[in-house]
This record gives sequence, C-alpha cells and structure tokens, in this order.
Amino acid sequence: MGRQLLLEKIKVEGIRGYETYRREGGYRSVEKALKTMTPDQVTDEVKKSGLRGRGGAGFPTGMKWSFLAKPEGVPRYLVCNADESEPGTFKDRYLMEFLPHLLIEGLIVSSYALGCKRTYIYIRGEYAWIPEILETAIAEAKAAGWLGQNILGTGFELEIYVQVGAGAYICGEETALLESLEGKRGNPRIKPPFPAIKGLWDCPTVVNNVETLAAVVPILNFGGEEYAKIGIGKSTGTKLLSACGNINKPGVYEIDMTISVEEFIFSDEYCGGIANGKRLKACIPGGSSVPILPANLLLKTAKGETRLMNYESLSDGGFAKGSMMGSGGFIVLDEDQCVVRHTLTLARFYRHESCGQCSPCREGTGWMEKILRNIENGKGKSSDIDLLWDIQRKIEGNTICPLGDAAAWPVAAAIRHFRDEFEWHVNNPVECLTRNYGLAHYADPLTPVTA
Ligand code: SF4
Repeated sequence: MGRQLLLEKIKVEGIRGYETYRREGGYRSVEKALKTMTPDQVTDEVKKSGLRGRGGAGFPTGMKWSFLAKPEGVPRYLVCNADESEPGTFKDRYLMEFLPHLLIEGLIVSSYALGCKRTYIYIRGEYAWIPEILETAIAEAKAAGWLGQNILGTGFELEIYVQVGAGAYICGEETALLESLEGKRGNPRIKPPFPAIKGLWDCPTVVNNVETLAAVVPILNFGGEEYAKIGIGKSTGTKLLSACGNINKPGVYEIDMTISVEEFIFSDEYCGGIANGKRLKACIPGGSSVPILPANLLLKTAKGETRLMNYESLSDGGFAKGSMMGSGGFIVLDEDQCVVRHTLTLARFYRHESCGQCSPCREGTGWMEKILRNIENGKGKSSDIDLLWDIQRKIEGNTICPLGDAAAWPVAAAIRHFRDEFEWHVNNPVECLTRNYGLAHYADPLTPVTA
C-alpha cells in the first residue's frame, strides 16, 4: 500500500463528522498556519511542495497563488471548483462525501494564504446529495470556531458558501464557473484577463480544484519539502484516481506517482485486473478528454520504458505516443469494446455540452458526431475518416476555451491508434450493424498481458 495522505482516515467510523475528524488530528494545519505562519509562508510551503493542480491542467498551485493581484481595498476570492463533470472522474465527489472536513480545512488554510474573507464551493448540480454534507460540515466548523470572525483570536475571518450549478460540463472551466457563480449563463470568458487579475465580480480570484485544496492540509502538516519527497520528478505527493470501465475493482484510489500503469491496472491493491478474464485493449488515463492509448503504449513509454502513473510519464511521446494525467479519471476498455462506438459516445457528449460561442466547437462537434454515427452504423465512406481527422485538427487550438480541444483529442487519438478499426467499420457495414466487430481486426493494438 502506497502512502495515504488524503484517504488515510477514510475508513475511520464517523470521520465525516466534526468530532471524529478533530479527534483524528483534523484542523491541525489551520492552527499551525494561523498561529505560527504568515500568509506568504503558507504560500511558500505550497510552492516547495511542488503541488500541481489536480483538476486537469496540472499547473503548479503555489505559482498560481503567487499570480493573485492584491490591490488595496479590493476583496479577493478563493473558489473551489467542485464541478467535477469530466466523464469517468469521480474522486472529488468521494472526498466531499466522506471527508468534507478535509476540504473545509484546506479551504481555510488556502484562504488565509491568499487573504480571502469569502470562499465559494461551486458544485455540480448532479451531485445532489453532497451540498447538504458540505453545509453540515461548514456549520460544524463554524460552531467550533474555525470559521466566522476572529478565528483562533488571530483577527482572520472567513465565511464559506456552497453554490450549486445547474449541471453544465462547461462550468468546470474556471471562467464559465465564475460567470455561473455571478448568476449568469456559464459561458467561458476570453482570456486575458485571467481570474487572478479579474475574476469573480471583477475581483482577483483563485480557482482551485477540490483535491488540490485538500492536499494543502498534508502539505502544511508535514511541510512542503517532505511532501515533495513523495512521488517523482515534477509529480510530487499523492494523486487520487477514479478507476472505472472493464476492471474488477472500480473505485477511488490514492497512489504515489511512482507506480506503473501495469501495476495500477493489474494489482489487487488497485483495479484488480481486467474483468471476466478479458485482455486489455486500451485505456483513457485522465478523464474522457485526454487521448486514448492502446495497450502496448500504456505499458511502455515512447522510449520503451515502463509507463508510470504520473504527469511526465503519461505524456511521454507527446500525443503521437502519449496521453495526459488530466483529471485522474482512469477508464479501461477490454478487448470486446468498440473504439468507434466509444468515440461516438464522447463526441455526442461534447457536442451536447458545447456552449456555442465559437464556430469550430459549435459546428465541428456536431459534424464529428454525425460522421462517427454514420461510420458506427455502417453508412460511412473511407473518405469520412480523413474528413474526421481534418475537422478535429481545425477545432484544436482554435476555440475560446479548452472544450474544443477536449472534443478534438479523443477523435484524433482514436483515429491515430485504431484507424484499422474505423476502416473495418467502413468496409464491413453489415457486421457493424450486427455488432460483430471481429477481434482479428484489432490484433495489432492488443498485447497479451499477464497479471
Ligand atoms: Fe463554448 Fe466550445 Fe467555444 Fe468553449 S470551445 S467557448 S464550449 S463554443
């Protein structure tokens, strides 16, 4: 079992409630920060830890904090992005549901570092039962003196509010989230200006993901340098992964980022291998928007080394041979899964979630869905595959927000690694309709793997 920094206490009975959480050492980081450190010292510890944002982009958290503008007399805001809407990703929900005080504790320390008196948790509407859990934890923390005025007699004050979204994927993008939080339609803003300069109600704002803010607690407890010793390279600390798909043990796991992808998939400690004795075909290692990788590239990097579950190793080889850590949603496909059908499912999702502001995303996502539907239904032409490739290239990098890229990358990777499967659909329209995909056609990307 790797080191557990976030989930260590998750099995303790009653840990969701304040009394148990406190008895198990909760809120120590708040005492340490408020009583013995300046806000800048807290930020320095986070910088030393090397913590990277756990929401998807992996940007260094301490650096993001240091970009926050601090004009005199202007309020600053910290917003917790709990709009975990990337398909396949559910680790933030797990944290909020079972360890709500860990998030509250991280929010207090982070707000102190940033000089914020008001903090918002923006949570997706589909997590309908979580706001009540958070509200209860906030009320308990306030009753115990961790929130409100003059916390611990230090003069620091903080209120935390929970805001429930209406269920739009795009509100996970930080500027769309801020629009929604202001009560408007969740359309992404053109950047710059970035939220650190002009964010919520035009005030300087930091938006951090749930897991990122929770990770601030062990960083303060152990110190940034100790935290940075866990992991490897620029992948420091531990990472939560939500594993799903054709595996024996779907769930949320905390890893230290030195383990291999193979160990994560096949070890009984984690995914427990491929379900029903099937072979591994492919995996999407970081949520639905990152490139899919076939089995042979999952187990080896572009340099022929063992692929590790971390930011650098997963992206080794660029998009030609690599993928991304992304949001930590680990989706496994066994040998029976159809990549064309899977790609169609994602294309439909992104077309539905496009806000429609930019033409490449608004029109392109619809075209990709239609072409994929034709191929999947045995009505595709071989020229459709090149057309799909062309469309995704015209979307990538040409949109206001990353949803355009998120829609383009899965299509690009599916064609790049499984073009033979697309061609098989085009050349075998009847078999397509009967869902007989013919394993022989997938022989190349399949690598026999033993546990
Ligand atoms: Fe909207 Fe798509 Fe443009 Fe993002 S990329 S702003 S979701 S149209």
